Amino acid sequence: MKTIGYATQSAGAPLAPFTFERRPLRPNDVAMEILYCGVCHSDLHTARNDWGWTLYPAVPGHEIVGRVTEVGSAVSRYKVGDAVAVGCLVDSCQECDHCHHGEEQFCSNGRTDTYNSPDRISGEITYGGYSKHLVVREEFVLRVPEGLDLAKTAPLLCAGITTYSPLRTWNVGPGSRVGVIGLGGLGHMAVKLAIGLGAEVTIMSRTKDKAADALALGADRLLVSTDEEAMTKAQSGFDLIIDTVPVKHDLNPYLPLLDVDGTLVLVGQVGPLAEPNTVPLILGRRRIAGSLIGGIRETQEMLDFCARKNILPECEMIRMDQINEAFERLEHADVRYRFVIDMASLDPAAGARA
Ligand code: NAP
Ligand code: ZN
Repeated sequence: MKTIGYATQSAGAPLAPFTFERRPLRPNDVAMEILYCGVCHSDLHTARNDWGWTLYPAVPGHEIVGRVTEVGSAVSRYKVGDAVAVGCLVDSCQECDHCHHGEEQFCSNGRTDTYNSPDRISGEITYGGYSKHLVVREEFVLRVPEGLDLAKTAPLLCAGITTYSPLRTWNVGPGSRVGVIGLGGLGHMAVKLAIGLGAEVTIMSRTKDKAADALALGADRLLVSTDEEAMTKAQSGFDLIIDTVPVKHDLNPYLPLLDVDGTLVLVGQVGPLAEPNTVPLILGRRRIAGSLIGGIRETQEMLDFCARKNILPECEMIRMDQINEAFERLEHADVRYRFVIDMASLDPAAGARA
């Protein structure tokens, strides 16, 4: 199937219209028309090759909501017209222990990401959701619960699950004291989800600029991470801190904020951090951990939880041709709090003109 998307051809190049083929349906494949796609900071890291593993041309996008247009002969869970979603994963071996436990993101034989990843069968590099159509095997397609706003559902597929998973892993519930570093796409979802689970939530931001937003989101307070006095007063006050900062940074101001046995979970920066001091770790049995998105079962659980609790992101809708401007703004933390591309704005003739 011929389709159109937006791709970047090199680390320095802007995204531009790109025509390509989606594979013919395998028996267990679902084809969909993409309606909305969220803009994650990982899309920007990938486009710019920040992690050093981007394969070009790259079509980013892993917060995808669409409608089923066709199903393979063996598909049993979906039918034409269903509202469906796809997140960061499109395949895994389905045979290893991790896949059996519903944690396909840790597949021992290598997960397949929605973009920039070789297809398990053909070896072709996957292209993501900044496009009109997508073909994905049934096991990696999520069902959008009835009643959820489709455009606002898109960011749940990465920002939602990436923050829901550590909240669940570390058993956050009523009475838990949760901190969130960085109020961006992931950060604001962490806040909403932690509140939904009954926790007390503190946002840790670089300035007080987002103080009114913090309260509007339902957080208990905003702690300014550059205010040393406030940071000292907040010591030993947290069970879990989720760190969403996308660049190299210093954890040392944050580690003393954890209570004994508290955990700081990194979900942002991939790569080196400033050297952590072990004193607060050893003296308080504190931990630094990491977390990667979430498995398919947990992603469906998160979508159902959001539908039940009416938890949705704050979105700014954009057209596909505004993506380069959106990337610039994302780089400067100038979005409250997630861009979502309305795929109806992707003109099928754009590829012909490019
Ligand atoms: P985002 O919307 O840009 O938010 C990042 C937030 O971090 C900003 O709003 C800002 O909050 C803070 N920040 C930005 N630049 C900073 C700097 N130089 N120093 C300190 N703080 C800074 O990004 P996102 O989409 O939430 O993604 C966040 C990170 O998570 C990215 O690195 C992304 O690749 C990663 N990610 C990881 C996973 C995973 O599975 N682990 C999944 C998705 C994304 P304040 O202005 O409030 O300080
Ligand atoms: Zn993402």
